[in-house]
Amino acid sequence: MIDIHLIPILKDNYAYLLQSPCGKTAIIDPGEADPIIKILDEKNLVLDYILITHHHWDHVSGIVKLKRKYNCSVISPEKEFGKIKGSDIKVSDKDIFELGSEKAQVILTPGHTVGAICYYFKNSKALFTGDTLFSLGCGRLFEGSARDMFESLEKLKYLPDDTLIYCGHEYTRENAKFCLIMEPDNDKLKKRIEEVENLRSLGKATIPSTIKIEKETNIFLRVKDPDEFKIIRQKKDSF
Ligand code: ZN
Ligand code: FE
Repeated sequence: MIDIHLIPILKDNYAYLLQSPCGKTAIIDPGEADPIIKILDEKNLVLDYILITHHHWDHVSGIVKLKRKYNCSVISPEKEFGKIKGSDIKVSDKDIFELGSEKAQVILTPGHTVGAICYYFKNSKALFTGDTLFSLGCGRLFEGSARDMFESLEKLKYLPDDTLIYCGHEYTRENAKFCLIMEPDNDKLKKRIEEVENLRSLGKATIPSTIKIEKETNIFLRVKDPDEFKIIRQKKDSF
């Protein structure tokens, strides 16, 4: 099992520090470097790898500084490799990344961007989704089509129910308002919203969620086809 530590960065982004049992370390989506260096210092760790989900600035801006300090290797999605400064290793769909003894499968999930990927650590039941799947939401369609995103989310839906979802932003409370308008009678959604309100009022993260929770409550995982997805995504964009 990997040890996962959530690091709030920028306004509402999350980076994640991963540690394998043998002590290898990785950071997912360092949108800035300083809070990450601080945590690594506190834990007396150095950094072996940086894993990137997509090329947006709020997920990559810490790379250069971290690389200079730790000389770590940077893993980036193949299709966005040229856009991500400091990239070393390209990964594409179904590739396996090894963090010491812990393996992560790369899942290509276009929609938010064309080359966006998720990292799935099967043994640890952990999925890092970047801006593809959020709790109670999904990423905006900046580069891909509604069909792309629908199909990407379908792939994630078939992972085991107890898979933990670690996404790139704390958007859950905002997303909840839209889900509730779409499904005012969804009792599981109401229960989740109560939990989310509690966590946020205590200043805590609503992450990780799980595939099960999202299938029960996230409207974007509850639509039946790309056409319905497109309509709901457009509604959300103007919400
Ligand atoms: Zn993004
Ligand atoms: Fe983002």
